[in-house]
Amino acid sequence: MTTHDDSINIDGTLERGMGARKERDAAGLGKGAPKGGRGFARRKVCRFCADKNVSIDYKDPQTLKYFITDRGKIIPRRISGNCAKHQRKVSVAIKRARMIALMPFTVTGK
Ligand SMILES: [Zn+2]
Repeated sequence: MTTHDDSINIDGTLERGMGARKERDAAGLGKGAPKGGRGFARRKVCRFCADKNVSIDYKDPQTLKYFITDRGKIIPRRISGNCAKHQRKVSVAIKRARMIALMPFTVTGK
């Protein structure tokens, strides 16, 4: 029967709700799930388009590791900000790098 209390105490409920939302936002900042924040673009241009000097090479895991998660999965384009062309190159490069054991297929937890 707590529903009656909530409906009476509107101000208290509102404040609690906002506090909870703030905490959720702060927690979600790390993993960057762009669901609610539409006007908040993290990185608009593809980093390979922006910098012509950076090449996508399957023999260069230092560059490729920016595009995989901690568990070894390839980060989707909407998160990484790559354009279609370069995301395709990145994914092919990562797959090749996996084949020659420069990158992990998967990272199992401890
Ligand atoms: Zn690009």
